Amino acid sequence: MSNLDVKPAPTVCGGREDVSAEPVRELLTARTVTLGESTQVRRLLPNLGRRMVGAWCFVDHYGPDDIARESGMQVPPHPHMGLQTVSWLHDGEVLHRDSLGSLQTVRPRELGLMTSGRAISHSEESPRDHPRLLHGAQLWVALPEADRNTAPAFEHHADLPVVTGGGGLHATVIMGELDGAVSPGTTHTPLVGADLALAAGTDTRLPIRPDFEYAALTMSGEAEVDGVRLAPGSMLYLGCGRRDLAIRADVDSGLMLLGGEPFDEKIVMWWNFVGRSNDDIAQARSDWMSGSRFGDVRGYDGAPLPAPELPATPLKPRGRAR
Ligand code: MN
Repeated sequence: MSNLDVKPAPTVCGGREDVSAEPVRELLTARTVTLGESTQVRRLLPNLGRRMVGAWCFVDHYGPDDIARESGMQVPPHPHMGLQTVSWLHDGEVLHRDSLGSLQTVRPRELGLMTSGRAISHSEESPRDHPRLLHGAQLWVALPEADRNTAPAFEHHADLPVVTGGGGLHATVIMGELDGAVSPGTTHTPLVGADLALAAGTDTRLPIRPDFEYAALTMSGEAEVDGVRLAPGSMLYLGCGRRDLAIRADVDSGLMLLGGEPFDEKIVMWWNFVGRSNDDIAQARSDWMSGSRFGDVRGYDGAPLPAPELPATPLKPRGRAR
């Protein structure tokens, strides 16, 4: 999906100063963002109180929306740089097209993983004949300096490893590794993204890594993570230093667990780009608007998205020490 904010706020993030080395329970609420004409999404990252969790730098949760009488998701061709997009559905279908020529329908609990590297463009749409409900999450992973100019790629993985903890937990490993199970999706920093399906009555402890920072967000139902009850549309930042995580649910619930090694590098995030400087971002914007670098998406019925205006004040990534 694209960041469709008309006036996207530039965000400088990364670095260790906001990372909690100890376990914490920091409850973050979503900001409601309207995309296009009517679709509302809950933006959990970047958040006023928290910008990244490991290399995860953007998280939108949308739906469940009844789109039986609507066209559903219609995101025209737009560019990306310096990141991976992770598309994850609980309900519905999304048709992905990109400038590499990929044409792929992504279905519930399948990974659509696009690595932009230096430049890619794509569109995402609900197919003309689509299921009634659309419900999912759109996440971005920042690429480290060594890989941010890598060649663009698209992967689709329909068969993902599952961890069945005792006590009603069914975890699908979307990215990275969880309790010994490894996703086939390509990663560039040590991280994990997992979908946790909790049957009513779940009461368990999930093994996690003390060197990762983590956050859990609610997709559906009402789960309790480390004793904190999470209503839909909220995220709990958990810090580092944990060997396991207590998870409970009285009703059928869905969580996503995001984690990773704290991302040391400072990045600049604006619109659909992750760079290291204001110049990176300005160059990417200008290349997209002039039709160079990002290629063409074929087959989408509509014009590409124009980039918004750059903010008047130049951005600078903050140094690691303040
Ligand atoms: Mn996108």
